Amino acid sequence: MMSPESIQPPVMVSACLLGHKCRYNGKSCYLPVLISSMKQYQVIPVCPEVLGGLPIPRSPLEISNGDGYDVWAGSALVVNQDGVNFTYEFQKGALETLNLCRKHGVKMAVLKEKSPSCGSKRIYDGTFSTRLIPGSGVTASLLKKEGIKIFSEQEWLNEVE
Ligand code: SF4
Repeated sequence: MMSPESIQPPVMVSACLLGHKCRYNGKSCYLPVLISSMKQYQVIPVCPEVLGGLPIPRSPLEISNGDGYDVWAGSALVVNQDGVNFTYEFQKGALETLNLCRKHGVKMAVLKEKSPSCGSKRIYDGTFSTRLIPGSGVTASLLKKEGIKIFSEQEWLNEVE
């Protein structure tokens, strides 16, 4: 007999939205309403940047010269304000996240908008000036390429309302 847990569809969620203090500044972006909207789901928290080996706290990082798709194409890099390259860690974290999705049969994910890893519609433009551009982060673009449906936190809440 299947346990109730085994029939809950899995959904991967950015850990910072669930209250994990894994952001670059050591804080979370806890969104209690998100948790209460997920009672029928098996929630799988993930922080791709931590999975990629980055510490908490860490310097702010942005994608320079494009978005996550361009990072995978080799034409953009993830850097800090001093130009130090963190692309390897971001790609490692994204690949680990994809492995977790495969392990748990994840077909959808709710990922924090604007992040260079998790953003799925808008990200910072790489100039560290708080300017946003259309685009996806490194993890979000990889998961999308693999057919996983990505919601921003707001899109998810609009969907389940
Ligand atoms: Fe949150 Fe994603 Fe940034 Fe981790 S990488 S702190 S989960 S937005």
